[in-house]
Amino acid sequence: MTTNNYPETVRVSTGSAIMLGLLKGKLDAEPTTAYLLMCRAEKCSANCGFCPQARKSKGRADMLSRVTWPTFPTKKVVEAIQTSVKDGKIKRVCIQSLNYPQVFDDVMGLVKRIKSVVDVAVSVSCKPLGSNKMKVWKEVGVNRVSIALDAATPEIFDEVKGKNIGGPYRWENQLEALKEAVNVFGQGSVSTHLIVGLGETEKQLCQTIQWCINSGVYPALFAFTPIAGTTLENHSQPALSHYRRVQLAHYLLTHKKTCIEKMQFDKDGKITDFGVSKEQLYEATDSGEPFRTSGCPSCNRPYYNERPGGPLYNYPRKLLAEEVEKIKKTLGF
Ligand code: SF4
Repeated sequence: MTTNNYPETVRVSTGSAIMLGLLKGKLDAEPTTAYLLMCRAEKCSANCGFCPQARKSKGRADMLSRVTWPTFPTKKVVEAIQTSVKDGKIKRVCIQSLNYPQVFDDVMGLVKRIKSVVDVAVSVSCKPLGSNKMKVWKEVGVNRVSIALDAATPEIFDEVKGKNIGGPYRWENQLEALKEAVNVFGQGSVSTHLIVGLGETEKQLCQTIQWCINSGVYPALFAFTPIAGTTLENHSQPALSHYRRVQLAHYLLTHKKTCIEKMQFDKDGKITDFGVSKEQLYEATDSGEPFRTSGCPSCNRPYYNERPGGPLYNYPRKLLAEEVEKIKKTLGF
């Protein structure tokens, strides 16, 4: 239901809700972005195999990845965002928009409402919309959009969110939509999500990361997380060593310290050479930066892919020295 041209209620990730003071609780790591999810009784009209919001998923409707998203009145949420931005706690608002008929107007109303009271960067994770609609969102204050590829190859895409699973998405359309988004929002102001652990090789991931960089799109890495009730509920999480190599390659590629042509892979597509000197490789690893959450600026998604007890695929904060040492061991350095 909509009042004053914005949705009356919105879902807020539990961590964000605690940060915003909407819920009581303790946080192991504070989110630096407030994560919101559009609220509706029905599930998403898409059918992604990893997502509890998917049309055919039997998963909980208040979940996205392994996070729960309780519902709150939008007015209260916006007031809390206003206070948290003033206090310097929140640097960005991320709206996960789902796929349903009124989503364009609902997101527009919500962004207008937020921007009418507080100057904060807003990212919207959305389906392909076309340039004209994106221009309208930009005008009302959306600063970045993210259009998810999720899969690293067209074949895996078809299996997990495209035609083979009854989903509305097509690989070529997503690539086209990302390019259109770059035309509207500018190079470096568009993100995509890539899920590691859907059966792709490291080489395929690096090739897609390179495509993103060449196209002005920033790829955010996620570790596949099995959620009860989804098609992929029995699929396992990626091996930590595989994830760490991909994170390191992602860091070196996005920081333009290497490129796919300089990298080498074995017959199974595993990285054998990152295309940089040993000194550069160790410097990057020692900084711990490659292993922090990647995405829009200030997006740290605490415990989105992992249990608080670990292992932490994406660190939502600066790493401790002993954590870097452990990662070096995992990488065989
Ligand atoms: S990278 Fe983070 S802030 Fe950006 S759309 Fe994805 S979850 Fe939201």
